[in-house]
Amino acid sequence: MAGKLPVGILALQGAVEPHVRHLERVGAEVVRVRKPEHLQGLCGIILPGGESTTMLHLLHVNQLWEPLKAFLQSKPSLGVCAGAILLAKAVSHPAQESLGLMDIHVERNAFGRQVDSFEATLDKTDHWPGETIEGVFIRAPRFTGVGDRTRTLFHYKGEPVMVEQGKCLAASFHPELTESLAVHHYFITKCETEATSWTTASPNPFASLSVN
Ligand code: GLN
Repeated sequence: MAGKLPVGILALQGAVEPHVRHLERVGAEVVRVRKPEHLQGLCGIILPGGESTTMLHLLHVNQLWEPLKAFLQSKPSLGVCAGAILLAKAVSHPAQESLGLMDIHVERNAFGRQVDSFEATLDKTDHWPGETIEGVFIRAPRFTGVGDRTRTLFHYKGEPVMVEQGKCLAASFHPELTESLAVHHYFITKCETEATSWTTASPNPFASLSVN
């Protein structure tokens, strides 16, 4: 595709800037999304890590809840940690509202508290096209239930820690806090594939039909 791909990062709260750097390094033109109009023209969006309860609140305050939900139905997304919690269908410990895009059940803070943060080498599955990577876990959620339409890209100690369902990706670890660009590269390739399929698809499949 000619030019840089416009990709958003939800910038209401949390670990925004490390994603900006990684996205720029994989060739995106990054837009920090704080208002509904910032979603205009984007090819995908990252929902970063941070504090999901605060993000929920700010999504409502900034009138982004409905526009973001609509955007996520048609464009690729990557939810990281708190962002993955926002994408899930069901959230526990404690339960809270979510955007409900992915068939996953997440349990918040299930890998321990801030002091229990750790970095580990992950186990890739056959669905992951590249080398394995390191994951940084900070008050990370566990994906305790994963639906049939969801495929796992990485495990840690036998548990899914990065999953994909259609246009959505969710990681319980922080790929933006290691040097590897692999996850951001995977995500931007997804955005690029989607963007290319819209531009090459016939804008109106009924255009050749004459209607009297
Ligand atoms: N525990 C946080 C939450 O529930 C997520 C932590 C993170 O994003 N690193 O929102």
